[in-house]
Amino acid sequence: MRIVRVALDIPLSTLFDYLLAENMTVVEGQRVVVPFGRKHIVGVVIAITQHSEVAAERIKEVVQILHDVLPLPAETLKLLQFCSDYYHHPIGMTVLSALPTRLRGSEPVKLKQALTYTLSASGCALNPAEWPKRKAVQLRVLTALQQGRQSAAQLKTISSTAPAALKQLIADGWVEASASVAASGNFTFNEEHQLSAEQQTAVDVVNRITGYHTFLLHGVTGSGKTEVYVHLLQQVLQRGGQVLLLIPEINLTPQLENYFRSRFPDTELVSLHSGLNEGERTQNWLLAQSGRARIILGTRLAVFTPLPQLALIIVDEEHDASFKQQDGLRYSARDVAIFRANQRGVPIVLGSATPSLESYYNARNGRYTLLKLSERASQQAQLPSVRCLNISNAILPQGISSGVLAALDERLQRGEQSLVFINRRGYAPVLMCSACGWLSGCPNCAGKMVLHLKDRRMRCHHCGHQTKVPHACPSCGNVDLQPVGIGTQRIETALQAHFPEARILRVDRDSTRNKGTWNAMRKQIQDEAVDILVGTQMLAKGHDFHNLTLVCVLNPDSALYSRDFRASEKLFAQLAQVAGRAGRGNKPGEVLIQTSFPEHPVFNALRTHDYDAWAATLLAEREQAGFPPFVFQVLLRAEGKLEAEVYDFMQQARNEAVGLAMQVEIYGVVPAALPRRANHIRIQLLVQSDTRKNLQQFLRVWRPMLDAMPAKKLRWSLDIDPQEL
Ligand SMILES: [Zn+2]
Ligand SMILES: [Zn+2]
Repeated sequence: MRIVRVALDIPLSTLFDYLLAENMTVVEGQRVVVPFGRKHIVGVVIAITQHSEVAAERIKEVVQILHDVLPLPAETLKLLQFCSDYYHHPIGMTVLSALPTRLRGSEPVKLKQALTYTLSASGCALNPAEWPKRKAVQLRVLTALQQGRQSAAQLKTISSTAPAALKQLIADGWVEASASVAASGNFTFNEEHQLSAEQQTAVDVVNRITGYHTFLLHGVTGSGKTEVYVHLLQQVLQRGGQVLLLIPEINLTPQLENYFRSRFPDTELVSLHSGLNEGERTQNWLLAQSGRARIILGTRLAVFTPLPQLALIIVDEEHDASFKQQDGLRYSARDVAIFRANQRGVPIVLGSATPSLESYYNARNGRYTLLKLSERASQQAQLPSVRCLNISNAILPQGISSGVLAALDERLQRGEQSLVFINRRGYAPVLMCSACGWLSGCPNCAGKMVLHLKDRRMRCHHCGHQTKVPHACPSCGNVDLQPVGIGTQRIETALQAHFPEARILRVDRDSTRNKGTWNAMRKQIQDEAVDILVGTQMLAKGHDFHNLTLVCVLNPDSALYSRDFRASEKLFAQLAQVAGRAGRGNKPGEVLIQTSFPEHPVFNALRTHDYDAWAATLLAEREQAGFPPFVFQVLLRAEGKLEAEVYDFMQQARNEAVGLAMQVEIYGVVPAALPRRANHIRIQLLVQSDTRKNLQQFLRVWRPMLDAMPAKKLRWSLDIDPQEL
């Protein structure tokens, strides 16, 4: 009797046993179709054995073994097992969530032959002046092919309609397709930039290591971390290895993809992120798994991709909160990447201008090696000067001080670009009745409905509920409703009224909702068809606009009295990032911060560009208060419609924890930061310990108790190393 133990996408912390028919052969990591309830579903074989705890007559047979793609390697299965254990998430759900959606089904999937394109003989015969009149995209495709062979992915970066243009050009006999040529270790490298001494040192130090080691590359904004990555990539590619490069934002992938392609034009590069359609994502995943793709550029989900030749991992903007998944398997892609590098025995580089305190602490205590880039890469580019505008006594009906307006005016006169940063979209965060004090609360949440004047809607940013803008106060009938506070739309309107001639562009989730809009906007900014940018954190990261010399930060103060102990760390990172957009060309940059607390240490640190002093202050505070990185935490969250039931569950969970009398500190049951969302009461319980080991020991006992507790009408989850409290 042969039994396979299968991981299934079922919320139970167990594998499921199935019987293997005589004629079936299977290996660990292979996908199989098995009966479950009344359905047939796809799972992954984790183990093959002779025995089962399940009674023989109850074991069902495997229906089909899927041979369309290579099985998951043992290394990946081990990584997923670790994640399931560490994050206390069911093994089956962990394994299946690591696969692209298509591979979670039984429809056969095939790795397509990758094609590359060249001009045909007749295409080469004509010079551009003789090209007949063609559509713009077709001409751009032809121009690109004049430079030499291009892949479909390369051509797609020209325009989203490039595939159609290509099809037409092939039909007309101008372009020819052929199978791609990819030989490892033999590739073109465009050596464009001379490395600075600091950059060279960083590259050399990493290159000296072949086994596992974690490096923290701390480089000020504009110091050329990407250039360090490029040179590290070059070394790895030369040895025939694969590189996994994790980045926080989908928005940043197209430009980074183009940049790496321009430096390694004939190396196979794939991106992996949720913005790809299922077909693309599956193909890219298979290219990575087959070893053909050498550079894998992806957001957090890419960390689980099987990579047979993996030789280096890079995590860019390692401090970024988006590396932490907030539902399902609540993993930190950065932490998983470090585990993976260790498992594989390869170096990992964490890059940031504002490292997370966790990573910085590890670099300080010698667990990681610190590499510093303290100067901007371009000789002319200096770090921007940072100044606070004290608004504690000012009345700013439109949220913009006279100092900011004067500075914007100056840039308009000089023909330079400015960025006005405000981390709140919509027109105003709340509508208020001036007669009775009514506020536009969301009927389903503890939060407020945000006024979106552009389309005259009230929207809840927590649950998505929306209504028309009320004409009168629903409470007293008064028609004089006032928008309170400021959002991007309001700032855009106010600036347009003040500078009627200026070309103003608003960049936030609302204005970039349609696919391709953001790319078009970026081009507009680069072409200097914009004078003033009004935007949220979408604009804060990674972008390089050479004529941008002024950054104005309008409302940073709310983060200063947040209950989240990480709020000031996050504020510093965000402001340092957004400030880093100023003065990246050869003109000096200036940053103005409107605040009522100009003496707050966070602003002092920004003024002096002194991350080290700031981090030292924060670390001292955290040590004193007993917060991470000096302790390790787990957060139990529960939510449900019935308040009594949610509290009963949580209280019982707490009692069980206390009863265990283990080496952990157990806090009280408290409401979540947003105590009610979409009509669900939300509460939480924090448990922490001095060591990871003690916390995990506790969880191994506590978790089964939670599983056993009745929880019919509520949802609960464990968040290990939570980033938001
Ligand atoms: Zn009223
Ligand atoms: Zn709501």
